[in-house]
Amino acid sequence: MNNNPLLQPFTTKFDSVPFENIKQEDYKPAILASIESAKQEINEIANRSNAPDFNNTIVALEQTGKQLNRATEAFFNLTSAETNDYLEKVQEEISPVLAEYGNDITLNENLFAKVKAVYDNTDKDLLSKEDARLLDKTYKSFTRNGALLNEADKEQLRAIDKELAGLKVKFSQNVLQETNAYFLHLTDEQELAGIPDSIKGQAAAEAKKRELEGWVFTLQYPSFVPFMTYASNRERRKEMYMANGTKAYQNNEFNNEDIIKKIVMLRDERARLLGFDTHAAFMLEERMAGKPDAVFSFLNDLLQKAKPFAGKDIEAVKPMAGKDGITEMMPYDHSYYAEKLREEKYDYSEEELKPYFSLEAVLEAAFDAARKLYGLTFAQRKDIQKYHEEVTVYEVLENGQHKALLYTDWHPRDGKRAGAWMTSYKGQYMEKGENSRPHISIVCNFSRPTEDTPSLLTFNEVTTLFHEFGHALHGIMADTKYESLSGTNVYWDFVELPSQFMENYCYQKDFLATFAKHYKTGELIPEEKLDKIVASANFMEGYQTMRQLSFGLLDMAYHSGKMKQEDSVEAFEKSIIKETQLYPTIAGIAQSPSFSHIFPGGYSAGYYSYKWSEVLDADAFAYFKETGIFNEATAAKFKTLLSKGGTEDPMDLYIAFRGRKPEPDALLERAGLK
Ligand SMILES: [Zn+2]
Repeated sequence: MNNNPLLQPFTTKFDSVPFENIKQEDYKPAILASIESAKQEINEIANRSNAPDFNNTIVALEQTGKQLNRATEAFFNLTSAETNDYLEKVQEEISPVLAEYGNDITLNENLFAKVKAVYDNTDKDLLSKEDARLLDKTYKSFTRNGALLNEADKEQLRAIDKELAGLKVKFSQNVLQETNAYFLHLTDEQELAGIPDSIKGQAAAEAKKRELEGWVFTLQYPSFVPFMTYASNRERRKEMYMANGTKAYQNNEFNNEDIIKKIVMLRDERARLLGFDTHAAFMLEERMAGKPDAVFSFLNDLLQKAKPFAGKDIEAVKPMAGKDGITEMMPYDHSYYAEKLREEKYDYSEEELKPYFSLEAVLEAAFDAARKLYGLTFAQRKDIQKYHEEVTVYEVLENGQHKALLYTDWHPRDGKRAGAWMTSYKGQYMEKGENSRPHISIVCNFSRPTEDTPSLLTFNEVTTLFHEFGHALHGIMADTKYESLSGTNVYWDFVELPSQFMENYCYQKDFLATFAKHYKTGELIPEEKLDKIVASANFMEGYQTMRQLSFGLLDMAYHSGKMKQEDSVEAFEKSIIKETQLYPTIAGIAQSPSFSHIFPGGYSAGYYSYKWSEVLDADAFAYFKETGIFNEATAAKFKTLLSKGGTEDPMDLYIAFRGRKPEPDALLERAGLK
C-alpha cells in the first residue's frame, strides 16, 4: 500500500494522473484508504475546540478529500471509458462505501452544528459572492438532507427515503419486465413492407436469437422507433403503439399505477417535512428556474407560441396519409407519414455527407472556434501518461500560458459505454495563492478510420463533438477559488448552456465553409447539401415541441400537489396534457407508468430543463449573431460566464452576459416557430 501511486502526490508533468504506474489492483485500496483519511480530516474539523468561522469550517471542509477526489475521478472515468470485469467488481464494492461516506458527513451532528454556527453568525454581505455561495451550498447540503429536523422527523425522513428507494427500483423493474415481455413476431415478409433492409436484418437476428422463424420487433427503442417510422402496415403499427402505451399499465402485477401514487405522495411528504410546499418547490430551490410558478409559466408560454406551428406540422403530414386513404390520422400514424414527408422535402443520406466531415477536420474546426472566441490554442503533448493508446492529450494554452489539459478518446472499444460525454480528471481551484488548472476529458463513440478512409462523422456526430467540446470549454475556462463551484458544477438547468451553445456553430454556413471539405478531393460541401442540413434541422419542430412540453407539464403536475389520491393515473395524465395533444387520444393507454425519467430517474420536476436549456443557448447565440459569431467583446462576456462556474446565481451570470433575462424568441425563431 505504501507504494500505491494513488496515495502519493503525483510527480508527473502538470500533476496529471500517472496512468502507466497505476495497476488496476491499486484503485480499491487507494479509494478505501483515502476515504479513511478524508473522514479523519472531517472529524478534526467537527471536533475542533476553537470557535467555528468561515475559514476553519467551510473552507476547511471544502478542502477535505482531495486525494479521494483524484482517485475516484480516475477510477470512474475508467469504468466508463475502459472497463473490464475486474473494475466492474471493484465499482460494485466501493459504491456503497462511498455512499455511506457521503451520509456520514451529512449526518455528522457536531459538524453540522459548526456549519450552522457559521451560517447563522456570518454577515453574508461581507463575504465575496463566491464565499457566500460556498457557505450557502455547504449549509444546504445538510439541511436539504434533514439536519434541522428533530429526531422523530429525521426518523420519518429516513423511512421515506428508504421506501422511495424501494418503489423506484420496483418501478424500473416493472418497466423492464413489461418491455421485455412483449414482442411482435412476423413471419410474412409482406408485413414488413417499408422497413429498410438493415432494420429487417436486425429483426431477423432478434428472431434467430429467440429460435423463431421470420422477424421479431421489440419495445426497445432501436427496434420500436424504426418500426413506427417505416412500417407501412397500419394495423401492425397500431399493435406496437398500443403495446408501448400499455407498458406497466396492464391488469397484472407489473402495473405501476399505485407505485406512481405512492412516489408522488412520499415526495411531497418529504418536501413538507423540510419546509417546502411541494416536491417541485424543493427541487427548484437549487435550479436556475427557482420556483414552480416560473416553470409553469415558461412551459405554458411556449405552449401558446408553438401550438399554431404544431398544427401546421400536422396539416403538412395529413396529405401524405390522405394518399393512403386515411382521413383521420391517429398517433401511431404520425412518425410514418412524417418520415414520408421528410424524404420528399429534404432527403439526403448521412452517407453522402460523411466524406465532408472527417474527424480531424471537425476537431480542428472546434479548436479554431475556441481560438477565435477565447484565444485558446491546443498543442498535442506526447509526454502525458494516458489510460489507452488511442487517447490523445492536448495542452490548452491561452495566449501561450498553460490553461488546462484536454484528453480526447474518440472511438468505440469493448469496455467503453455507449454515447458521448465530457468529464474531468482534476477540477480547477486556487491553492495557496496558485491557480491549479483542470484536466478535462471528452469521450465519444465515433466510427473508426479504416485502411483507406479516415474517421468520417455523420452530421449528428459533428454536433455531438461540438456539444461535448462546449462542456469541455466550461471546464477549461474555469477560474474560481473552490473546486466544488468550479467549471460544470452548476445548477442542472444551466449546465447544458455551454454545450448546446457550441452546437449552434454547426449550422453557420460561413463557418461550415471553413472546414466541411471532402477528405479526398478537398472540394467544399455543395451549397444545396448545406441548405438541406440547416432546413431539415427544424423539421416537425412544432410537433416535437408539443411532445416535450407535454412531458414537462406532466412532470410538474405530478410534483406540485395537483394529483389527488382518488385520481386515476390515466385520467390525470390526459387532463394535464390535453392542451398539447395533436391527435385523438386512445383510451386505455398512458405514458406515466413508464415515464422512467421522472419516477425512478433523476428528472423529477426537472424535465422542463431540456426546453429551458434550448431557450438559453438560442438566446445566447442570438447575441453572437447580432454582433458577429466570433465577436471579441461578446465572446469576452461569455467567457466570464463560463469562467465563473457555479460561484454566482446562474440568472445573475446570464444577465451580466446578455444584459437581460433569457427570452424564448430566439429559440422560436431558430426552430421556425415564429
Ligand atoms: Zn450535454
